[in-house]
Amino acid sequence: MGQTNGHAAPGQNGRAYEFVDHAFDVVVVGAGGAGLRATLGMAEQGLKTACITKVFPTRSHTVAAQGGIAASLRNMTPDSWQWHMYDTVKGSDWLGDVDAMQYLAMEAPKAVYELEHYGVPFSRTEDGRIYQRPFGGHMQNFGEGPPVQRTCAAADRTGHAILHTLYGQSLKNNAEFFIEYFAIDLIMSDDGQCTGVIAWNLDDGTIHRFAAKMVVLATGGYGRSYFSATSAHTCTGDGNGMIARAGLPLQDMEFVQFHPTGIYGAGCLITEGARGEGGYLVNGEGERFMERYAPSAKDLASRDVVSRCMTMEIREGRGVGKNKDHIYLHLDHLDPAVLHERLPGISESAKIFAGVDVTREPIPVLPTVHYNMGGIPTNYWGEVLNANSENPERLAPGLMAVGEAGCASVHGANRLGSNSLIDLVVFGRAAAIRAGQIIDRDSAIPSINEAQSERIMDRFDRLRHANGSSPTAEVRGTMQRIMQEDAAVFRTQESLESGCKRMSQLWGALGDLKVTDRSMIWNSDLVETLELENLMACSITTVYGAEARKESRGAHAREDYKDGPLGGRDDENWRKHTLAWVDDSGGIKLDYRPVHTELIAEGIAMEKIAPKARVY
Ligand SMILES: Cc1cc2nc3c(=O)[nH]c(=O)nc-3n(C[C@H](O)[C@H](O)[C@H](O)COP(=O)(O)OP(=O)(O)OC[C@H]3O[C@@H](n4cnc5c(N)ncnc54)[C@H](O)[C@@H]3O)c2cc1C
Repeated sequence: MGQTNGHAAPGQNGRAYEFVDHAFDVVVVGAGGAGLRATLGMAEQGLKTACITKVFPTRSHTVAAQGGIAASLRNMTPDSWQWHMYDTVKGSDWLGDVDAMQYLAMEAPKAVYELEHYGVPFSRTEDGRIYQRPFGGHMQNFGEGPPVQRTCAAADRTGHAILHTLYGQSLKNNAEFFIEYFAIDLIMSDDGQCTGVIAWNLDDGTIHRFAAKMVVLATGGYGRSYFSATSAHTCTGDGNGMIARAGLPLQDMEFVQFHPTGIYGAGCLITEGARGEGGYLVNGEGERFMERYAPSAKDLASRDVVSRCMTMEIREGRGVGKNKDHIYLHLDHLDPAVLHERLPGISESAKIFAGVDVTREPIPVLPTVHYNMGGIPTNYWGEVLNANSENPERLAPGLMAVGEAGCASVHGANRLGSNSLIDLVVFGRAAAIRAGQIIDRDSAIPSINEAQSERIMDRFDRLRHANGSSPTAEVRGTMQRIMQEDAAVFRTQESLESGCKRMSQLWGALGDLKVTDRSMIWNSDLVETLELENLMACSITTVYGAEARKESRGAHAREDYKDGPLGGRDDENWRKHTLAWVDDSGGIKLDYRPVHTELIAEGIAMEKIAPKARVY
């Protein structure tokens, strides 16, 4: 435990919170795959490392990852890092940063073998190697060949296996965990350096100040900005909210991935691995419609493509069910032994959430919000950028971001399935390597900016005692419906303008919130209110960024921009990253920075990855 410095006891109105102070070389916020891989790497290097997490580490959303983790191990089909890089570049619709995508593809095999050696129980081939399945958008021979088997899997519980292993390894290396601590805000020095973070111990109500030479945000995505999402209720973009309040930009927030196969009604995910193992989609006429849209990749085209095709089928009256408002996923033709061995988790989910026995009936599915390509801008070492168009590479000292919270950017406008888990471990590891190089172990840990920590607690206190007329759940519900209606799979100028207007109006409700529980112990009302403010920053930057981007690219599909050889993509004007700032009153500022187009190593010809039309 750290040192207590005397203020009045917590729980009083009019502020005065007691602080417990700690000092570390590195503080990682988040214990999902990214946070744990970073924590482990930092601790292995002898850096004094703390990991703060609002949920128990193995309850982080990574635990729900089913399908697997991409790396060109070539255990089952021919493969190479060059093919993996090409697929990632194409999947990103040429918005990803080439240096980061090359780093990802080249380092992926190493990162997976490390996981294996740390103890992840991967499924095996007959001859004992790591089992790999096909996944959407991963193809052989620079997209010319058949699907490649690149996605390493531990049955359909890959994230679960990875989290448990990394948590055990982090403990073994003496990282210190602060579990069920909610990080409220970053402590910034007056000259813009991050010097720590303030967190609230949900269990005993104490407030903790962590001074650190480096803070790593690994807080995950913000799926809960939307009404229907596959992500956990804890995916509320807290790190993004902290960045926005620190006056730093968020990047490419308009790119939100819809997964083709959320269970109709419940939103729970059926992994793309189900189609990787041979599952297929049919419409209300019993037709395998993906063959029409994507003749070569078919049901394994990339996610944005499949989600749009499903939406089009439904719109044109070819949905299934009473209201013709969803699609069927068939697995009932597959060998029950294969289902049992490779897809046990989703067989169970289908039973519980749709009442379906997958060996006999199709699963009702619908595109559902699944992943945020945008987030906190970083370079490929995970260092956060305080960028604008004039200083596109300027660093925000003392800060790193990894995992779904970060935007390196390897996924650009659309992420390929199984490329997130590999992103978590490759960049969690890269951040640790970088921190090992740049942190001076002998220097003093920065002192805490008292004035700023008081300001942080002022905001906390304002929310804790908020006594307006808008309950948190009501504002959150309104926000989720606006996002679902106005910033969905298909977008138009009209829907996006409506979204901007409605989100700006709703921002006003943040000044009129009503919190009923004033306690400091397990106050879920206050936790949800802090999360709502973070979600609001994510939602408003998403919809404003989308309105401004006058093209279609990856997951950002605008019906008013769909013509031309690239299907509405405009590389001349829009092959650039959006940067978005939001101020306290909900004012939005947008700027842009160029996409990185330089390689970091030889081995692939630039022509191979030059922009072209994206067809599957
Ligand atoms: C159902 C589902 C299935 C998926 N399947 C796959 C797959 O098969 N392959 C693949 O590549 N990708 C998959 N993805 C995507 C991938 O799992 C996620 O992008 C990834 O797990 C995110 O990991 P993360 O470490 O960035 O964050 P998370 O795992 O979401 O962890 C976030 C961490 O931050 C902590 N945190 C957040 N806010 C705070 C705060 N204020 N204070 C303290 N702690 C905080 C949380 O406690 C948690 O520990 C899937 C996603 C979902 C939703």
